[in-house]
Amino acid sequence: MKIGALKESFEGEARVAVTPSSAAHLRKLGHEVYVEAGAGVRAGFSDTAYEAAGVTVEPNAAALIGDVDVVVKVRPPNEGELRQMRRGQVLISHFWPAQNPDLLELAREQGVTAIAMDMVPRISRAQKMDALSSMANIAGYRAVIEAANNFGRFFTGQVTAAGKVPPAKVLVVGAGVAGLAAIGAAVSLGAQVYAFDVRPEVAEQIESMGAEFVYLDFQDQVQDGAATGGYAAPSSPEFREKQLEKFRELAPEMDIVITTALIPGRDAPKLWTADMVEAMKTGSVIVDLAAERGGNCDLTVPDERIVTENGVVIIGYTDFPSRMGAQASELYGNNIRHMLSDLTPGKDGVIVQNMEDDVIRGSTVAFDGDVTWPPPPPRIA
Ligand code: NAD
Repeated sequence: MKIGALKESFEGEARVAVTPSSAAHLRKLGHEVYVEAGAGVRAGFSDTAYEAAGVTVEPNAAALIGDVDVVVKVRPPNEGELRQMRRGQVLISHFWPAQNPDLLELAREQGVTAIAMDMVPRISRAQKMDALSSMANIAGYRAVIEAANNFGRFFTGQVTAAGKVPPAKVLVVGAGVAGLAAIGAAVSLGAQVYAFDVRPEVAEQIESMGAEFVYLDFQDQVQDGAATGGYAAPSSPEFREKQLEKFRELAPEMDIVITTALIPGRDAPKLWTADMVEAMKTGSVIVDLAAERGGNCDLTVPDERIVTENGVVIIGYTDFPSRMGAQASELYGNNIRHMLSDLTPGKDGVIVQNMEDDVIRGSTVAFDGDVTWPPPPPRIA
């Protein structure tokens, strides 16, 4: 089959869905690979580098969509891109079907097979295709880098001839994929790191990384944080009160707060309130990775960096993976090629849309003129 990566049309997006190295893997599966001219430039991959990897460079989106069987991209398609696609053509990209019902309906109308990388089931076998995790890992790391860049002090403690410097205190709220990556990055920069999650089973993991788990004085912590499938459930009002009380106590001490708390299918819980921001020291930094879903901090403005009256920097960027375009494209390109590997079982360039396969079924949101989202729950863990 002919597989082609579009240049991302979303303003400022630096990622690309195929890299020269992932293209080489796709060719081994028997596919021919195409990219739109300039698609990889912002991620550091020139058209010449693609050509050297055996990729055909198409002059524009229309030519690429017209020539290929499978269109791959990072962000959901825009309406214009989707309208140019034809019946039976396959699209692999993020899709966010719950947030994009009109786009889903258009994919159905066009008869396009839409495979959503954000819908890959979180089962062991699918980890290599789990774009949400690969992007969350980058976001967590980059959150620490942005924090360090906005913090006027060292992260690590030092004893120098010119004076003693204490280590920065970093609090990470939410220890899922992004939070754990943030903990790892902050510990490696030498900060004193604290972390909290409603799922107490992550305490051991946090401690093994050299950070300190923040325990609440709440006897039902174990039950309260427990949820199905490793995800968090909304907290009870009593638990939430204890959590906020603890955060209020920590706020004046923390130099950096990185929030990543999310509950599937809901707006981000508000955990870092305006009075906590007010209690923080001048020069402290908050990075709110939940900004896109409304933010964990009351004062976060999505896509903005603001400075409060008391001198606290609050970063609400929603494009952390794109800020590391080369790395994000490499990992996303690998997620895409693993997806295509599962879709090409014979390694003969023939795509088989096996709707009996949990991973393919779970990710396919439109197929053969039907909306196929939401999928039935996966049968295997
Ligand atoms: P996420 O992005 O949905 O949420 C981030 C974190 O916020 C979670 O750890 C959650 O417990 C926490 N949180 C929610 N409400 C909170 C609150 N009020 N206070 C503090 N923390 C709060 O999480 P994620 O990165 O998608 O990971 C969620 C789970 O899924 C984890 O158990 C992870 O190991 C698991 N997972 C499994 C796979 C796989 O098996 N393939 C892949 C990725 C993640």
